[in-house]
Amino acid sequence: MDLTSLIRTIPDYPKPGIMFRDITTLMGDARGFRRAVDELVQPFAGMKVDKVAGIEARGFILGGAVAHQLSAGFIPLRKRGKLPHKTRTVEYALEYGTDAIEMHIDALARGERVMLVDDLIATGGTALAAVDLLRQGGAEIVAACFVVDLPELGGAAKLKSAGVPVSTLVAFAGH
Ligand code: AMP
Repeated sequence: MDLTSLIRTIPDYPKPGIMFRDITTLMGDARGFRRAVDELVQPFAGMKVDKVAGIEARGFILGGAVAHQLSAGFIPLRKRGKLPHKTRTVEYALEYGTDAIEMHIDALARGERVMLVDDLIATGGTALAAVDLLRQGGAEIVAACFVVDLPELGGAAKLKSAGVPVSTLVAFAGH
């Protein structure tokens, strides 16, 4: 099955020049969704993974399914101000301004083995902030896993330089 053909590309969304890789079409396809989750899980089956951390919002859908399949717990990494309990926050730079990602301070015990999941890695800013957040909480990052890689934007390479094993299922050229 070709996962790439199940991903819809929307040119110039959310702004001119961006090719938006829309995975809702992949998730809406029963066999495609199962295959994507199976492929994300496969390298880690039989490995000890305590928690799966998913990045809001598409990382919740994929990460929840991955956590279930690995019999791991799930940690939501959310945008600022969304989590009700005490949080740890990491800010990261955007093209214009900054954004922040948060995690409950008690979401994780020191030394727990964590797999990070999101739909797509582009520049890697979001995922690197997530890794920072998880490491501040004492996580050992087993891997960061994405359905889509945009290799020309360099995010996967940056994560690898930060000592994080990276696993991706499909790649698209360009932005
Ligand atoms: P980055 O921090 O640059 O790696 O961007 C990753 C985040 O932005 C992910 O959560 C993606 O869902 C979203 N994103 C960035 N670029 C795209 C794109 N071309 N198509 C779809 N989502 C994108």
